[in-house]
This record gives sequence, C-alpha cells and structure tokens, in this order.
Amino acid sequence: MRVQFWGARGSIAKPGPSTARYGGNTSCIEARSARGTLVVVDCGTGGHSLGQNLVSAGAEGVRGHILISHTHWDHIQGIPFFAPLFVPGNEWDIYGPKGLGQSLREALAGQMQYTYFPVPLDQCGAKIRYHDLVEGTFDIDDIKVSTRYLNHPALTLGYRLEADGVAVVYACDHEPHSRMLATCHADITGQDLRHAEFVNRADLLIHDAQYTAEEYPAKVGWGHSTVEYVVNLGQFAQVKKVALTHHDPLRDDDAIDRLVANIRAKLRENASSLDVFAAVEGQIVEIAPSPAKDTARRAGEFQAEMPIEPALAEWSVLLGIADTKMAAALSNTIRAEGIRAKFFANMDEARTLIAKGRPSLAILEHDPPRVDGMEMCRAIREQENDREHQLPVIMVAAQENQAAGAAAGVTDWLIKPFTDACARTKIRAWALRAACQWMRAVIPEDEEWRLARPPVHVRRAPMAQKGIENRRFPENVISTDKSALLWMYCREIAPFETPAFSKNVGDLIARATKRPSEMRNRSAAN
Ligand SMILES: [Zn+2]
Ligand SMILES: [Zn+2]
Repeated sequence: MRVQFWGARGSIAKPGPSTARYGGNTSCIEARSARGTLVVVDCGTGGHSLGQNLVSAGAEGVRGHILISHTHWDHIQGIPFFAPLFVPGNEWDIYGPKGLGQSLREALAGQMQYTYFPVPLDQCGAKIRYHDLVEGTFDIDDIKVSTRYLNHPALTLGYRLEADGVAVVYACDHEPHSRMLATCHADITGQDLRHAEFVNRADLLIHDAQYTAEEYPAKVGWGHSTVEYVVNLGQFAQVKKVALTHHDPLRDDDAIDRLVANIRAKLRENASSLDVFAAVEGQIVEIAPSPAKDTARRAGEFQAEMPIEPALAEWSVLLGIADTKMAAALSNTIRAEGIRAKFFANMDEARTLIAKGRPSLAILEHDPPRVDGMEMCRAIREQENDREHQLPVIMVAAQENQAAGAAAGVTDWLIKPFTDACARTKIRAWALRAACQWMRAVIPEDEEWRLARPPVHVRRAPMAQKGIENRRFPENVISTDKSALLWMYCREIAPFETPAFSKNVGDLIARATKRPSEMRNRSAAN
C-alpha cells in the first residue's frame, strides 16, 4: 500500500515560515492499494492539493472513496475545494460516522450552505454516494475497512485499512479513555485495550499526537492524544511504524524535530524496534505487500454500512445519578439526542426498568460515601444472564479506578468535570453500539455471510412478526434479499403506499420469507 500525507496539522491550518517543513494544511491522507484502489482519509485543507494533483494527472472518470473520521472543520474543510468532486463523469463514495439525527450528507452540506459557500453540495458535478457508518467492517474493492469509535468530543471513527497483506490504521482525533494513560501513568486496559486491539500489529499507525504529556493537564477532555501515549501504544500493540500527526498549530518545525529526536533516543535506550516519525505534508510511505497476514473476514464481524434505523423514541438511557444538577444536565443532553432518560432511585426500580424497557445504556454516579455507583453496577451485572449482550454502563466519577471498575463490570468512564460535547458523544457511541448489538441479535446465524455484502435499503417495510426486535425497530429493514425483492416488486405493481397497504405487504413478505424453524416455533406457540 502507498500512503501520502497531504495535511498533517491539527485544529486549524497554520501556514507560515515556522511550519513550512512539516506543513500547515489540516488532515488529509491518500492511500492506494497495489491494485490502484484510491481511498482518501479525511479531507481537511490538505485535500485541495490532493484534488489538484488528481485532476492534473488528467485521468478521466476518476473513481475514489473518501473516509471522513468526523465532521470537525479541520477534517472536512477541503471538501468544497476538492476539484475531482466537481468533474462530471467522476464517481466518489463518501463515508463517515452515522449520527443519531443528522446524516453525513446533511452535515457536509451544512458547510456548503449559501451563507458559507457559493456552490451547494448537490451541485458538485461528480456522482457522489454517501455512506453512514457504524462500528464494523466493509469492503472498498480490494481494501477491507474496519471502523471503531474513537474518544473525542464529536462522534469519530478510526479506520483500519487492510490490503496487499498489510494494515494501515488512521486514528484522528482520539484521547485515551484513561486520563492517567495519557501521561503514561496507567496500564492499557478497558476501552483503551479495545483501541490497542484495533491498531494491533499495524504496519503503519497514523495517530493523533497533538500534545505532549507535559501539556496534557491543561488539555484534558479536548479529545487528543499525547506523543508519549502514542509511542507507548505503538510498542504495546506491536505496530511497525508510527506516524505522529495532527500537529498542534502552536508547535513549530523545530519543536517537532526536538520531540521526534527525544522519542527516538528513548526507543534506542530501550532497544525498541518501533519506527516513529512525525508526518510531513507531501511525504510518501510505501508499505511493501506481505503474503503473511490474513485479512479475511471473520465470523461475527458487523457490516459497518448496516442501516441502523433507530426508533429513537423507543430508546432510553437509565440514569442512576444522585447529584440533581448533574442529573438535570445529563437528562437534557440525552433528550437533545432524541433519547428518553429514565431515572431510578434504587436497584428494584433499576431492575424493573431494565427488564421492561431494554435500555441502550446506563449512566451511574460513583461518589462515595454519598452514592456507591460500583455497587449499583455489580447489582446490574448480577441480574444479567446474557454475558454476550451486557448493558453498557458508563460510570461518572471524579477519578477513574480501572481495576475496581473492571471488577464491578463498568464499561466506560465519564470523568468529572466533563463537557456537554463529551457526554453527548459517549452517549451517541454507546447507543449506536447497543443498536448494532440488537441488530446482530435480530440477524439469524445462518445469514452471517450476508454481513460481507452491501446492505439492502428498504424504506418503511413493516414486518408481521411480533417480538422485541420489532418493538425496537418498527420501521425495520428486511435483511434478506428475497424480502427486499418482494417489497420492490409490490411497490412496482401498486405504486401507492397507505398504512393498510404497507401492513398487508409486510404480512405477505414475512410469510413468504419465514424459515421452516420459525414456522415450527410459531405453530408450537399457537
Ligand atoms: Zn482534528
Ligand atoms: Zn476533532
């Protein structure tokens, strides 16, 4: 795979004599497989030069894919200036994290509204398709892409690209979940261990390293990593090469040189084979193909393009928060996401809400001796009989205690004080993960192979089956090809849609696509 950096600056473009060597443009990476599949990761201001380069190459009918980590300005500002999007005959697919309300297309169109830009997104010229992603995997021609939510005050996806037997991981923007880990005063555990698994044995890890451990205490919760953490992660996850990127706009070229020299000296002292460099705008990294690694799809991988059409009104978040001010703030945040907040005062109430409502997640407060969130978490875990599908529990506390949290069954932490954006992003990520887990449960095991295929989008296809899955997904997506075809056929022969028509068609399709085992269950139940 061949990777070229077109922008390595974080937060805001910073051109000038002091940043001339590492470059002033914001995040943009070009990756090409040996077969020539073109993937652009993020399209900050660096996207302008990449676009010019692609157009000047003169190729007609350029086909490419843009993976957007998140829609903060420094990762999307190049899109209105990305020339290949304005050339008729070109075809582009743009991917990004699915929000709870706004789609990726709407978010990108926002920065091209009349007030901000003269040409709206839908008048670009090229054929553009948009893909809203959740955590999982999908294929872009010969490149297998895996996604994972990062820890940032906006819903952000990291991307792992695997092709030609090698792996390149892009993780911007990301702050370690454990604040102590940011300054290398903790072990890699919990959600940080999941992150390490995501980057595991990458041939090239391109990682946010905006701050140093010394600067970090003033930047806690801003959603960025420290150089020291990234180096530690690279060693822990047995990565080959680490590209430090998202350079702070206040860090000049000489300061980056000093940082890299210090890191290399320490790695030499420890006889580490990790290769660390700071990404330079324009730099090309060639990663030789390797026959060694298996990038085949494993059972249980979730299709990242799976349409999660949540019935938001039916989602709920359980709140075990004693602090009234914080409870009100969290409840407002949850409601702003279109999700219901349900409070409980004691464990009996919590048990009832969990059994009846199937919440997406629980947020508990731990502030002993006033309130013992760990005890509440243990009680929740004790009543769960399904270890595979545990309720995510976020613990709000003044300090993290990873060991005690792991023993009690805590899934993630929200450390006080936190911003509304941080809380909101965590709630989004865990609510979407819960939805994916439910989708997994709904998809029969013998349809596992379908996860490797593009999803079939069907609008308003009611299913006749009754059960929890339909309560959670009333506007369900029929996951079998046969049912999708039947639905399209019915729409063709009767081009109208009334509630009665939809229900009858839904009943017909459900009967026509039922499995023999379901027939047996149903007749036994009847
Ligand atoms: Zn950024
Ligand atoms: Zn950001």
